[in-house]
Amino acid sequence: MKFKLIEMTLKEVRDFGKVEVCVLPWGSCEPHNLHLPYGTDYFTVEKIAEISCKKANEKGGKVILLPGMPIGVNSNLFGFPLTLHFSTTTQLAILKDIIYALENHKIYKLVILNGHGGNEFKAICRELYGKTSVKIFLIDWWTVKKDEMLKLCEDKTGEHGNEAETSWLMYLYPELVHIEWADEGKVNQSRFQGIREGWVWITRPWHLLTTNSGYGNPKKANAEKGKKMIEIATDNISNFLLELSNEKIDEKFPY
Ligand SMILES: [Zn+2]
Repeated sequence: MKFKLIEMTLKEVRDFGKVEVCVLPWGSCEPHNLHLPYGTDYFTVEKIAEISCKKANEKGGKVILLPGMPIGVNSNLFGFPLTLHFSTTTQLAILKDIIYALENHKIYKLVILNGHGGNEFKAICRELYGKTSVKIFLIDWWTVKKDEMLKLCEDKTGEHGNEAETSWLMYLYPELVHIEWADEGKVNQSRFQGIREGWVWITRPWHLLTTNSGYGNPKKANAEKGKKMIEIATDNISNFLLELSNEKIDEKFPY
């Protein structure tokens, strides 16, 4: 049974029957060191959503995968050519429209599957809370069993185009990876102690932090590590989707 909306016909949508959960993957369009594509976060999260929905539906879930959003919050990467950016206000507007559509179709469970660290959906979810009957769930997918996933990496540092992220792409889209072009993903330290220690937060100007946008050394990445990490993430996400699909919304939901 198909579940990826943009590939379904009206007949297939009708045959699917009652939809319990919709999953919305959200990525970004930004450089990732010299060796990964601009769509890295989008490609990864979209595929993770697809695998997770498939696993949940195979166990009886009624989960539909919505078209993914390929652009995220990225104004701090404008130092690199062709970085694209949706503001948080734009994301809120898009989500309002998606929720409006879901309400019209009497679908009341939405999972945002986020693939990009700059997308801050918590404030948006709080903004929408109480204004819709759609229950919104948020998963930053790379945080799912993060310790278990990072155990598989030799270099656990870094956060962008690093060993983990490169491994995911090597497994999912090997034809888009050019590891021989990668630099070591070294970053510059701030002149301020509080920022170095992590208790002062700033929007980091990415071209001043990094050399070629990479943060973390990707050289030890491989497809086998990527496969294991993605299995951990999708096993857990699909279990949640199935649980959510099977639960009824009552007055105490989700407690
Ligand atoms: Zn990324």
